[in-house]
Amino acid sequence: EKPRLLDDEEGGLLFFSSSHSSSSGFGYSSIERLRQRLPVYKYRTAILYLVETHSTTIVVGETGSGKTTQIPQYLKEAGWADGGRVIACTQPRRLAVQAVASRVAEEMGVKLGEEVGYTIRFEDITKNGVTMIKVLTDGALLREMMDDPLLTKYSVIMVDEAHERSISTDILLGLLKKIQRRRPELRLIISSATIEAKSMSDFFNTSKKRRETEGGVQGPRMDPAILSVEGRGFNVQIHYMEEPVSNYVQAAVSTVLSIHDKEPMGDILVFLTGQDDIDAVVQMLNEEIQSRGRNSSGLLTLPLYSGLPRAEQELVFTSTPRGKRKVVISTNVAETSLTLEGIVYVVDSGFSKQRVYDPISDIENLVVAPISKASARQRAGRAGRIRPGKCYRLYTEEYFINEMATEGIPEIQRSNLVSCVIQLKALGIDNILGFDWPASPSPEAMVRALEVLYSLGVLDDDAKLTSPAGFQVAEIPLDPMISKMILSSSQLGCSEEIITIAAILSIQSIWVSGRGAQKELDEAKLRFATAEGDHVTFLNVYKGFFQSGKSSQWCHKNFVNYHAMKKVIEIRDQLRRTAQRIGISLKSCEGDMLAVRKAITTGFFANACHLEAYSHSGKYKTIRGSQEVYIHPSSVLFRVNPKWVIYHSLVSTDRQYMRNVISIDPSWLTEVAPHFYQHQRPTSMLH
Ligand code: ADP
Ligand code: MG
Repeated sequence: EKPRLLDDEEGGLLFFSSSHSSSSGFGYSSIERLRQRLPVYKYRTAILYLVETHSTTIVVGETGSGKTTQIPQYLKEAGWADGGRVIACTQPRRLAVQAVASRVAEEMGVKLGEEVGYTIRFEDITKNGVTMIKVLTDGALLREMMDDPLLTKYSVIMVDEAHERSISTDILLGLLKKIQRRRPELRLIISSATIEAKSMSDFFNTSKKRRETEGGVQGPRMDPAILSVEGRGFNVQIHYMEEPVSNYVQAAVSTVLSIHDKEPMGDILVFLTGQDDIDAVVQMLNEEIQSRGRNSSGLLTLPLYSGLPRAEQELVFTSTPRGKRKVVISTNVAETSLTLEGIVYVVDSGFSKQRVYDPISDIENLVVAPISKASARQRAGRAGRIRPGKCYRLYTEEYFINEMATEGIPEIQRSNLVSCVIQLKALGIDNILGFDWPASPSPEAMVRALEVLYSLGVLDDDAKLTSPAGFQVAEIPLDPMISKMILSSSQLGCSEEIITIAAILSIQSIWVSGRGAQKELDEAKLRFATAEGDHVTFLNVYKGFFQSGKSSQWCHKNFVNYHAMKKVIEIRDQLRRTAQRIGISLKSCEGDMLAVRKAITTGFFANACHLEAYSHSGKYKTIRGSQEVYIHPSSVLFRVNPKWVIYHSLVSTDRQYMRNVISIDPSWLTEVAPHFYQHQRPTSMLH
């Protein structure tokens, strides 16, 4: 039966009310029955019809309705993966990529990496010619465009979680729109958890004129279709704090304990911001459980953040043992990207880690910042999946109503654009200011990015990629500053060391945390520490790990995270291969740390800082922006306070802290980046 179709002439919107097809379920496996019970199943025919007839289909539906796991399978069943074509499903988060791919593979009864595979940076679990459904980060798909600008192997690309407006999602949407003009047969599905569909629809609806000729031409309509999947969330009761809380970690712990003591069975989901506060809450809860003895043994605490070993990540999806209550303590990955079953209570800290960028000071950092009302509603919604639930907001109602922003700001408007600009340049998009963005980045941020890339020697006076340096930097799947550091290590004869450092910097931390033994961890660090700084200390850890025969006992003894080190070795191997491919000679400097520090300076000169004269408080100023910064307590240079340093990144809490710091000689700055520290940039590059 054909779905009924209402065509709204003005907006070109389509709404469906599908005819419900009921199936006895007889003869189906239980997984098939589960699939048919998802809200999206009723729209299967409608979705396939829209994808067939429209270039772009926007699917809006509540979290857990089955968009991510089902739509790619429907497409495959309808033949979109026939003839060697591939269906892509992009996610902003790596953690979600792995979880979605393994779930889809499981539902299809295939081995992960065969018909269903996934790709994230440094990990490609797909098989050419075999993989039909490929889940990947939006960033990984952007990378693929460097080799195949029209993404020719894909028949349908589903850009999932579009409401998140991650920087890569926005770049991708802009590029996909361009690709569609060259490849009208390519289908896009934009899926989103919130009704912001109109702006997405407007973005893709640039060709109303084309509709007039529709009768005559073959092929899909260019105006986007919108389909809204009705969820079936239960009512969620909201509780606010009477007074603002000063410490949301403490407040989260006591709220969880009080739910556990007073409320009927049902799992709890706590939204915090990152590994640090999550580990802290897990530890405090576990201590409390232990101190209470047997009474509270019914509480199972599970952390969820990226960087957690896979086995631990998967624990959150296992069903809660009878008589127990699961508490998942998560970043906002559980807000819309992943659906956890069995959640009845949500505890919302009101915060998440967000990128913030100030183009004036050219400082970007990850800060713990207030979420928007839209996010708060999403979080609350997680409590109503299986029955009416409760959401405990760790802030006041007054704050929610009067102070919380309605929507979040797209990441592209609060990020440093260096990586974004180089990627677009590498794809031949020269007029970046004129690029068709879903949301335009600020011109100041754009100018800053061009300036840094120019100083890195990646762009020339005409703002074109330099050859070979610019193209080489663009080839390395890392931040351009790191890529530049790798490139220059080739001339400085220390590429083996610099590649190790790059690999270590690309994972969250090589140290074990959350064991509640800060003092022991600090002592362990001292065994590897050097006055040259954190990067050199990393090299000592790596060396020690190798000399131990990559032993896990050695790691345990030294508070080094064994899984992280294994990952470092994997990433390092891949980076070495990339380096060789683009003509970087692999050499070790045999302990010449001067060369290593110089190579780092070549990439990170923009992050140079100077210790304030007569400052006994360890106050530094950035050289370019005169911003006040301090060395992070986790750095081996904390309290050492060398006069001149370069940092890798900033974290901001009560102050701006520099994370991963090395000491430098200031004369290197003008040597490696004369344009940045002495001259004005040529104005021609802005055109
Ligand atoms: P949406 O994308 O609309 O938010 P999903 O397709 O992610 O919905 O989820 C649909 C259903 O599949 C949910 O009920 C969810 O619990 C289940 N599910 C998804 N991923 C997993 C997983 N890794 N393990 C177990 N169940 C999962
Ligand atoms: Mg989803």
